[in-house]
Amino acid sequence: RAKSEHAFVSFYRHGMDEQHLRQLTILEQLQQACDGNELKLLLQPKIDCQTGKTIGAEALLRWHSQVLGFVGPDEFIPLAEQSGLIKQLTRWVCETALEIIQSLTLRDGAFSLSVNLSAVDLLSDEILRLFDDLKQLQSDIHQYLILEVTESAIVTDPEAAISRLNWLRERGFRVSIDDYGTGYSSLAQMRNLPVNELKIDRAFVQPLANSVVDQSIVRSTIQLAHELNLSVVAEGVEDESSWRLLQQQGCDVLQGFYFSKPIAVAEFKQRLEDEANE
Ligand code: C2E
Ligand code: CA
Ligand code: CA
Ligand code: CA
Repeated sequence: RAKSEHAFVSFYRHGMDEQHLRQLTILEQLQQACDGNELKLLLQPKIDCQTGKTIGAEALLRWHSQVLGFVGPDEFIPLAEQSGLIKQLTRWVCETALEIIQSLTLRDGAFSLSVNLSAVDLLSDEILRLFDDLKQLQSDIHQYLILEVTESAIVTDPEAAISRLNWLRERGFRVSIDDYGTGYSSLAQMRNLPVNELKIDRAFVQPLANSVVDQSIVRSTIQLAHELNLSVVAEGVEDESSWRLLQQQGCDVLQGFYFSKPIAVAEFKQRLEDEANE
């Protein structure tokens, strides 16, 4: 009996090998990436919907591992969340975002850099220490950062998440609801959340030019959001006709491949320079 159990275990291990080995390697390597220099942030421009000008960016994490090669955030972020490593990543992202802000020659105070927080971040007091530390480094940093959180990050433990979001807002940070429309919360529930901005998920924005249904969804979302005093961002704008539709509907900010894919910091700075000299 012991023998067949052993055979089963070794068979079972074999079956899991490829997938689990990769996951374990990712976690092991990612731990080292946090201390080394395999991580970088790309910036995707955020565009003023009316003027078409760059008014900020979203910071998106990229990891090029010496061992594994390029690993996409959709693969390593969920693993980092499960293991708790995400807290270290979030700290790295926010500290790097602060350095980027300090290195920009900003001509006016309207610029903002969005960073992504995960559910795990909102469930731990580490996030409060992190933003305290950032304020120590630059006391007005809250004017430049927008914190993106998903609906799903809040529903895990709404009370805990909301109390930390309130703490952050009391210190002046702006909060944005990312991937809006993919969760199951209604705008009526949004009203009770301490947020400043709503980001309509690209699932509704990409098909906009060819879908009357999505046009109505987006139109009514923008209307209601504005009545709740929320700024509205549309992500996944991939063509000019979507931009024009969003403009007619009074959307505030746009993001998408039509304007720019996520780019290196130096390239983003060049873009700001070019626009300033136009
Ligand atoms: P997200 O926060 O919803 O980020 C937007 C994603 O959409 C980015 O993918 C971006 O490259 C992509 N995108 C932007 N414009 C377009 C467009 O016009 N069309 C299409 N098809 N896609 C567009 P990316 O960089 O691969 O990131 C994927 C996800 O990984 C992010 O989704 C976010 O959930 C997560 N992520 C990335 N960086 C971080 C980070 O620093 N921290 C955390 N917690 N999550 C991150
Ligand atoms: Ca985001
Ligand atoms: Ca999003
Ligand atoms: Ca997403």
